Amino acid sequence: MNKEVRVRFAPSPTGALHIGGVRTALYNYLFARKSGGKMLLRIEDTDQTRYVPGTEEYIMEALDWLGIKMDEGIKEGGEYGPYRQSERKEHYRQYAEKLVEEGNAYYAFDTPEELDAMRERLKAARVDQPQYNAITRTTMKNSLTLSAEEVKQRIDSGEPYVIRLKVPKKEEVRLNDMVRGWVMVHSTAIDDKILMKSDGMPTYHLANVVDDHMMGITHVIRGEEWLPSAPLHVLLYRFLGWEDSMPQFAHLPLILKPDGNGKLSKRDAEKHGFPIFPLEWTEPETGEKVEGFREFGFLPEASINFLAFLGWNPGTEQEIFSMDELIEAFSIERIGKSGTKFDIDKAKWYNEQYIKTKSGEQLAGYLRESLNQEGIEASDERIIRVCEIMKERVTFPGQFWTDAKFLFVTPDSYDEKVVKKKWTDEAVLALTEYKKALADVDNLTPETAKSVLTETLEKNNIKMGRVMQAVRLAITGKGAGPDLMDIISILGKDEVILRIDNALSKLEGQVISK
Ligand code: GLU
Repeated sequence: MNKEVRVRFAPSPTGALHIGGVRTALYNYLFARKSGGKMLLRIEDTDQTRYVPGTEEYIMEALDWLGIKMDEGIKEGGEYGPYRQSERKEHYRQYAEKLVEEGNAYYAFDTPEELDAMRERLKAARVDQPQYNAITRTTMKNSLTLSAEEVKQRIDSGEPYVIRLKVPKKEEVRLNDMVRGWVMVHSTAIDDKILMKSDGMPTYHLANVVDDHMMGITHVIRGEEWLPSAPLHVLLYRFLGWEDSMPQFAHLPLILKPDGNGKLSKRDAEKHGFPIFPLEWTEPETGEKVEGFREFGFLPEASINFLAFLGWNPGTEQEIFSMDELIEAFSIERIGKSGTKFDIDKAKWYNEQYIKTKSGEQLAGYLRESLNQEGIEASDERIIRVCEIMKERVTFPGQFWTDAKFLFVTPDSYDEKVVKKKWTDEAVLALTEYKKALADVDNLTPETAKSVLTETLEKNNIKMGRVMQAVRLAITGKGAGPDLMDIISILGKDEVILRIDNALSKLEGQVISK
């Protein structure tokens, strides 16, 4: 029987989660659910210099909002915990020491000045990328060049040291990536990475491999930026004797700038005015606030659907997928190798599709919130109906208010262009008569609003097409919008009559004869 699938999302708490990180979390989640496996959240906080407070809570809130649920993690707990690396220090040291004992790692005592001098020396000798590696390590101050007594004495006297991986001199390191296929790297391209820092903390590489092993991770699904580290991780698995249970790797394609030139950055988002974080983020140092997908008005379902397609496709024409449908359709085989362009218009399109499928009741909360902010009272019934008639016409829920203010506030100005073209004698006559006829209507529905208007116009021998825009103008102040009969029935008889009266008197001097 196959082993139970276990995947992890392992962000470093160094600031707001970038949309690429959210996609990584989503693909892990889809894969775990599809395979009936488990997903955990591990916080990789070993680099204390880059720690940004508030990040952990932010990440969990973002995943929650999107509906990406963890089985284990810092909040959920679980039998493989603790799930925060800063609470797992003893494991890393133990394995680092084991690597040293078995000759696969070594202590290094070089000072920053000595390391700089080494780099300068290599640069002078025209070495492109000076590295601490199989060649240079023989000239540096480490447990490979110093005697055992000297090493012991330096450590005992409290001298700072790091532990470095002893990368084999000449060897091809291979790994079979689920997205990219075979990846081969020559060991000369890998430097002797630091595994334990002088502050006693492990580096990302050691902690990541130790934890993936200890937490029983079967698949490592992460961004392409980690592909260069993967051969090093393969070496660590081998040296630690865990090669047989090494997870399978899947490195996700980059998310590119809208024009396809290079990796998407926070600056691109600022430049083009689109979000790159899931939720609003406040920079702790500057207090600067950056809006997220949520604050822009993207629905979580739309954000998920959009992100799922950033690097994956189902191989069919279907574009709208609920989370359950994504789980059903998802496979790592259908993840592309090449980077995908970030197209905010596509995200907006998804949002429109999802808004359309919701009921007035489901959308009412958004409009209620805007109205509360504006201090406007309205019945639930009216709010629901407004959402119903507006939902086909908006990209973001904020537009229920901004594009339909006239359904709550009597207009005090009228679109000049429409006035100049449509405010005719005929229109004035039509509105005067319509107003009178409306006064006798008991139950103003979209249907009665329409039939009364048709009758009035027929009686006066006026063609509907010639006055319709003026009627709309009088009632809404605008030349276009949702179905006018819906608007009239939502506003109710008294308000419609009042609005017609207002328009007739305010626009009295602007009648054009046609
Ligand atoms: N802590 C790494 C990050 O911030 C995790 C990379 C990995 O998934 O191995 O993305």
